[in-house]
Amino acid sequence: MTANGPATFGDNDVLIVVDIQNDFCPGGALAVPRGDEVVPIVNRLAARFRNVVLTQDWHPRGHASFASSHPGKRPFETMTVAYGPQVLWPDHCVQDTPGAAFHRSLQVPHAGLIIRKGTDRTIDSYSAFYENDRTTPTGLVGYLRERGLSRVFLAGLAFDFCVRYSAEDARREGFAVFVIEDACRGIDVEGSVAATRSSLDALGVPCIATLEFAADSGA
Ligand SMILES: [Zn+2]
Repeated sequence: MTANGPATFGDNDVLIVVDIQNDFCPGGALAVPRGDEVVPIVNRLAARFRNVVLTQDWHPRGHASFASSHPGKRPFETMTVAYGPQVLWPDHCVQDTPGAAFHRSLQVPHAGLIIRKGTDRTIDSYSAFYENDRTTPTGLVGYLRERGLSRVFLAGLAFDFCVRYSAEDARREGFAVFVIEDACRGIDVEGSVAATRSSLDALGVPCIATLEFAADSGA
């Protein structure tokens, strides 16, 4: 066990499962390479948590983060918008479409909350806690605090975007945060995976592996 890692998961621990949706898996509109590999890992992991939150990227048609919403722009270009730089993406996770649905093999029936993000047409939201303007809250901080959940574990897609931003925000809000890296996959745009590791390290967010606590969880 790592010095600051958990041996078992208890009542004050929550697993946040980030964006395991069809569009982020192979064959989807914004596929994370090998993104579907996390599904069985997350299923096993989630079974050991009493508290689980799922996040779901959930955009209206014509969302500002879509390159198609900006004439002349292409996916993966960066554009300056009202709140700063924004990477433009292929259309993805449009509300109530098959691409926005959770991966069919994701099995977390006991998840207590599904938090949908990116629902404002004008603001993207990587983080489960704050939209990309960095000021609009999703309400998740309040949910965790009211329920006495003080240790946050993160898994899902993509490691270097939505998992990263969620981990950073959770840490800044004062939660103890762990990223379970083997239960994540990254996109890696322009070194974003390496940048994520150094940013998390600087914030004191350990990237751990499921194996580090598999033996002593008793699950
Ligand atoms: Zn999105």
